[in-house]
Amino acid sequence: MKRSIKQLLLGMALLSIILTLASSLYAGYRADRQTLKDITLETNSAYAQKLAKITEGYLLRTERTLAYSASSLSKAVSFENTEYLNREAERLVVQSESLSSVVITDGRGIIRGTSKGVEGLVGEPMQGTDTVKSLHTGLPEISEPFTSKTGRLIVFISTPILNADGEIAGMVGGSIYLSEENVLYNLLGQHFYEDGSYVYVVDSRGMLMYHVDPSRVGEYVDNNKVIEELKRGNEGSMQLVNSRDQKMLAGYAVIPLTGWGIVSQRPAEKALAPANRMLLEMIVKTIPLLILSALLILYMASRIARPLERLAGYAADHKNGTGPQTVDSGAWYREAIELDRALNDSFMNYREQMDHFILESSTDPLTGLFNRRALTEQTCTLTEQKTGFSLIILDIDRFKRINDTYGHSAGDEVLKFLARKMTEHTGTAGTCYRYGGEEFVIVLPGRTSREAARFADRLRIDISAENSPVGEPITFSAGTAQLPEHAIHFLRLIEIADECLYYAKENGRNRVVDAEEFQPTV
Ligand code: GH3
Ligand code: MG
Ligand code: MG
Repeated sequence: MKRSIKQLLLGMALLSIILTLASSLYAGYRADRQTLKDITLETNSAYAQKLAKITEGYLLRTERTLAYSASSLSKAVSFENTEYLNREAERLVVQSESLSSVVITDGRGIIRGTSKGVEGLVGEPMQGTDTVKSLHTGLPEISEPFTSKTGRLIVFISTPILNADGEIAGMVGGSIYLSEENVLYNLLGQHFYEDGSYVYVVDSRGMLMYHVDPSRVGEYVDNNKVIEELKRGNEGSMQLVNSRDQKMLAGYAVIPLTGWGIVSQRPAEKALAPANRMLLEMIVKTIPLLILSALLILYMASRIARPLERLAGYAADHKNGTGPQTVDSGAWYREAIELDRALNDSFMNYREQMDHFILESSTDPLTGLFNRRALTEQTCTLTEQKTGFSLIILDIDRFKRINDTYGHSAGDEVLKFLARKMTEHTGTAGTCYRYGGEEFVIVLPGRTSREAARFADRLRIDISAENSPVGEPITFSAGTAQLPEHAIHFLRLIEIADECLYYAKENGRNRVVDAEEFQPTV
């Protein structure tokens, strides 16, 4: 299918607008996403750091509370006074508000007093060397999570009880139950967003100590980039895919006191959602501009295309011969103006050539008179216009002899001489034609054949009285007839006049015979 220039211009301009718009929307969208991503990572990182500080502050406070208790126990401790020790342990649970249970051991690690709920442990030795580190080191300790004798996953915070000589006399320690509601829940759980954001805590080995999903507490997480970073003691932020194949934007920080890591993360999809909304908003806001541009382009494309369409129309009309004489396409820009000019020039050339050809095809080259073809056409026009006319047909007498005597060129001069004479005599009264060879026709509109015969006679006399170019006068014989009196068709009229001419030749030449006097037999 052939496309019009308007369609092409429109298509091209629209395509470029759409591409530009799409690429700028896309670039804006990408930039928005990047900004949102950077902000989310930064926020999560700052948040994880803040939580790490709060948690560490809490642990330090707990340590201090235990240390205070240890120092008061060291002054007046009797590991036999279970009741007293139980009371002290219970006091610590109640006061700290964060420890789930407290135990007090003697210097060998045998439990001598407990808070409520774990009284059964009295008399039992503490489990594992890790948990009673303070008994060996004489320093406060916070254990890694482990499963206690009661089957609970716990973190144990302990402080040694030193006697007056500074020797380790025992230990007071409290547990945080990780799988039950504990202080971490209070600290971290409340900061969990509805949109899928959450916080979790791992110990230095990568075990989950706190998670929104409590069933995951105690689980060791492998192949998690954030946890790997935390294990190396690094802080920061990154994008990662979590264990549920969800893209997350995570910030992470370490609690220096324990080596635990806190991770705050938000689903990337949720964090970046505003970019999609912004994109939609931008598209909606761009639509009126797009429509406006499209209308402007349509207008401009029409303005540019109109002169070319008109020019194409002129060219097509001209080919069919129905085009106007001059072209004015309303061109307003250089190329179209040039085309206008070129088309006008070529139309003019074409007309001049046509005029020339028409003239050539209707003119006799030797005498410059109209030829037989022009005679047929012009009389046809007269007939159509219902203009009556008379016709003289004349033939030079014995012209063959002139040719034979003086040569063909001289004969030509005689023909030109006669043509000139005929034209002079006719003037504006009629038109002269070379009918063929040495035969001529004069058409006199609005004249009777008698008038034509008189006219021919005057011409005949005038010619015969003058020397022709060959140095002697020539004569001619002629026949005249009138339309519509003698014939209604031109061909018939010329037959009648020719018959009269023939009659003139037969009767001695150098004479004019009028159809009015001589009734032809054909
Ligand atoms: P008639 O009185 O019977 O008409 O005798 P004629 O000799 O004129 O008649 P014919 O028809 O026998 O001869 C006409 C001659 O006109 C023949 C031809 O050579 C000559 N002729 C025709 N056209 C031209 C032309 O263009 N130039 C010249 N020089 N001669 C021409
Ligand atoms: Mg002849
Ligand atoms: Mg002749």
